[in-house]
Amino acid sequence: MREQLVARTCAWCGKPVPYKGTGRPPKYCTAAHRTRAYELRTAQARAGRPPGEGGQVQEPVVRVVERTETIVRTVVRREPGEVREVPAARLSGEPYTLPEDAVEWAQALAHLRRTAEAGGLPDVAREPLARACEAAARALRSPRP
Ligand SMILES: [Zn+2]
Repeated sequence: MREQLVARTCAWCGKPVPYKGTGRPPKYCTAAHRTRAYELRTAQARAGRPPGEGGQVQEPVVRVVERTETIVRTVVRREPGEVREVPAARLSGEPYTLPEDAVEWAQALAHLRRTAEAGGLPDVAREPLARACEAAARALRSPRP
């Protein structure tokens, strides 16, 4: 019994490649398929190198986005020259200012109450202050004009 190679399949496309019986048996049916196989082999080798040496990174692709958001905010600023209404000055001549909102008014009135409870107001001032507070309370409880 004698066995002789007569053909093999192309390593690229799988088609049969006839072998004449002399020399090294061909691996590819055409030069084009030999070239494609070479390009793929060398490309895989290049991709397998470390990324710093031209290789392909293994991490997934990351998208870097830049987002600009515009926030519209209303800011009320006092002009530098604007002077708030100052109803009076301290005995020392220093101007004093009134509370600006309900919280500050409540704090100021609580301070007045604590001062009165501690006896920190002269007797002559207590009754006028009480009348002023009662008038303010009536105004606060009356319907708006
Ligand atoms: Zn082929």
